[in-house]
Amino acid sequence: MNHYALVTGASRGIGKAIAVELAKSGFHVLINFKSGIEAANDTLKIIEDEGGKASLLPFDAASKESVRNALSQWKETHPEEHIYCLVNNAGITRDNLLVFMEDEQWESVINTNLNGFYYLTRSLIQDMILNKEGRIINIVSLSGLKGQPGQVNYSASKGAIIAATKALAQEVGKKKITVNAVAPGFISTDMTSELPEQELKKMIPLNRFGKAEEVAHLVAFLASPKASYITGEIIQINGGLYTR
Ligand code: NAP
Repeated sequence: MNHYALVTGASRGIGKAIAVELAKSGFHVLINFKSGIEAANDTLKIIEDEGGKASLLPFDAASKESVRNALSQWKETHPEEHIYCLVNNAGITRDNLLVFMEDEQWESVINTNLNGFYYLTRSLIQDMILNKEGRIINIVSLSGLKGQPGQVNYSASKGAIIAATKALAQEVGKKKITVNAVAPGFISTDMTSELPEQELKKMIPLNRFGKAEEVAHLVAFLASPKASYITGEIIQINGGLYTR
């Protein structure tokens, strides 16, 4: 397979594990990050050491110009290729109770998580439609399904992507493009490193936080031909913490 997969926020955490797993599946992975070049190079090295193919593609997912410049430059230098799989993974939290929420906390979360999803997907969907194939996998969250106090901004951003996943799946299904979302619970990454894991894990039936690699396996399945009849789904991966 010489398919390209773009993973946003692939320098650390869940995105890094997804990049490594997709490379194992045979994708040439485009490793996006915003500022952590050393961490991104580490992802690249892991993939190359395992015999996989990858390249760095830095941009700020929250910036329309940054996304569009990076993708149009990539297209100019790869006129014969297209990106088959897009994993919208880049995301941030800026937690606060709504009563104390600062505009910057609301706007940065919506810009990165929700607008980032739009800028990326809008930039790549036309090529997928022309090529009559593609996979879009959005990393959302339990917070976007259940709502999480202290995370009205984050819950809103992820809930909106969940609705967008269902709508877009219906728009592009006829073009053999699948659109799905993966909704993790607590996964051990930098994002959750400050949380009281020993306390929180008591609420989780599987009694532990998940691993980034466990999310990556699910994403690699959704990106594979084996998942060709799954679209418009929101698949939870949370150790049984929440079911619906
Ligand atoms: P993380 O460890 O904090 O890593 C975030 C990644 O996103 C980094 O590679 C970071 O790169 C990148 N990033 C952040 N802002 C960006 C931007 N504006 N443009 C491009 N890249 C950007 O986070 P994580 O825990 O792996 O989370 C990954 C995704 O899973 C997020 O969407 C998150 O909401 C979701 N999620 C996580 C959990 C969890 O428990 N960890 C649970 C549910 C959902 P730089 O360092 O270069 O900025």
